Amino acid sequence: MRSFSIVFAALTLAAAFVEAGTDVRREIRLPEVPGYRLVRYDPHMHTVFSDGQVWPTHRVDEAWRDGMDALSITEHIEHRPHLRDIPADHNRSYQVALPRAKALGLMLIRGAEITRPLPAGHYNAVFLDDAAPLATPRFEDAARAAVSQGAFVFWNHPGYPHPDGVARWYQVQTRLLQAGHLHGIEIVNGRRYYPGAHRWCLEKKLTMLGSSDLHLPRQVDDNLDDGRRPWTLVFAEGRGMEAIKRALFARRTVVVGADGRLFGEKKYLSPLFERSIEIVQPQPVPRNRSWTYIQIRNRTSLRFDLALDPPAHLQAPARVNIPPERIVRIPVRCARSSSGETRAASVPVTITNMRVDPEHGLGEKISIQAACARGPSTPAR
Ligand code: ZN
Repeated sequence: MRSFSIVFAALTLAAAFVEAGTDVRREIRLPEVPGYRLVRYDPHMHTVFSDGQVWPTHRVDEAWRDGMDALSITEHIEHRPHLRDIPADHNRSYQVALPRAKALGLMLIRGAEITRPLPAGHYNAVFLDDAAPLATPRFEDAARAAVSQGAFVFWNHPGYPHPDGVARWYQVQTRLLQAGHLHGIEIVNGRRYYPGAHRWCLEKKLTMLGSSDLHLPRQVDDNLDDGRRPWTLVFAEGRGMEAIKRALFARRTVVVGADGRLFGEKKYLSPLFERSIEIVQPQPVPRNRSWTYIQIRNRTSLRFDLALDPPAHLQAPARVNIPPERIVRIPVRCARSSSGETRAASVPVTITNMRVDPEHGLGEKISIQAACARGPSTPAR
């Protein structure tokens, strides 16, 4: 009996050790962009302290595994179905999660979700000092309580809870904006992208945000595509949470969808593309002098879907998808000349999964070296 308990204790200890020792973080590789530190931030999720189903430390662990640098746990102020079992105050979830975040080197940014019926809707306030003053009867007072702490306030899932999922802008948002109490909008929440909200961000100079809005454990949350969470890429100037806050107020963000689409202003999308992609020197093609294979290398965890618009004399594929951390080889041929030399061509491309507005992909140019010689009109393998 005693040997059984010793074995049992040893097994338990071994299991605990293995569990503690085998946690894996999936890194999200991003390019170096001069002048900025790129921060991977998920600003919206829940735990049992509001209507989520996990303990706060678990949210931190999930964010670490998913490659995040920063997160906000944003419990609903007004909607707390577990309150009878967990009668804690509005700051407790943050306090429970904070030691774990520190241990894992993640930045935990204190937040809360103001949760009101339409037409107001739901808002996250992040960079709070104290979530308690947000529990107040009038919606406008809750927003003011957040802003008076210097918090950044953004409108969550603006198409929810409308039955058709379409975002609608009401007087209440106009008033909020005019009061200086609205700083951004989620254009991506879970699986959903809100093109109307994307347009509002551009027109009204609001910050674009993307979040997981996790409620269930990360692995089983069907709010997410393909096992990935959406997040907000923050272009911070310097280290630490204050730098993130300044970047959010300055609208320096790109939204990364779970499906690999990226949404943002050209000034942020362009350097991401240009610094992620490298055109590798052309390779000669055996037994076929007329075609050249160029290689496009993507060192990052981002995906790029290219639509090429080559000049008339250049034959090249119309579409090229460059998966994360891969090199893609494409055949090109200069059809006009038969001189045999290699010529550079500047080829306009649209990166169709990087959206500068709801209708348009990012326009760029890539330089391609193409051989110019007579030969078969289809490339050799
Ligand atoms: Zn929420």
